Amino acid sequence: MEISRLAAAFLMVAALPWPAAAADGPFDRDFGLVEAPACKSLMGMDVRFVPVTKAELEGVGQRYGTVFILGVAHPSPMVPLVIFDHETLRKTPHEFQRQILLHECAHKSHGFGGSQPEEDAADCEAAKRLRAEFGYGAKEFETIVAYTRHILEREEIPEAQIRPKLRAVAACAR
Ligand SMILES: [Zn+2]
Repeated sequence: MEISRLAAAFLMVAALPWPAAAADGPFDRDFGLVEAPACKSLMGMDVRFVPVTKAELEGVGQRYGTVFILGVAHPSPMVPLVIFDHETLRKTPHEFQRQILLHECAHKSHGFGGSQPEEDAADCEAAKRLRAEFGYGAKEFETIVAYTRHILEREEIPEAQIRPKLRAVAACAR
């Protein structure tokens, strides 16, 4: 009698919806897009953030003979425009989304190009704003570092290139 009542209780619990988050891996969830950050170009123009598909971003990369991961700032200082792959970005936590958008903003607002020192400088500029405007600390930057790794691994970037990038992001977080 006692046992069958227990069994019935167990069956009821088992029938409850199981929390989906337990099985989630990177890019399994739609977090929704964050609002685009305020961003001024070097020439003082408001920078527009335009969501495109992953395929569209890849197409733009092909035209420039390169690969853009997640987003790119228009190379001309006269064009205050950033495009980003909203299909991938919305499947990352908001902390990471803001880092990406502020990184692209830094290209426009500081005139950073695509060399490695300038990429690192854009990460640092983004980190500065994340701390000052969003109050991000160690916990948020851990999420940013983790998703930077997920993205680079997904793009099959070699580990030898992932490590210095993560070091640069983590160094700026302090
Ligand atoms: Zn960049």
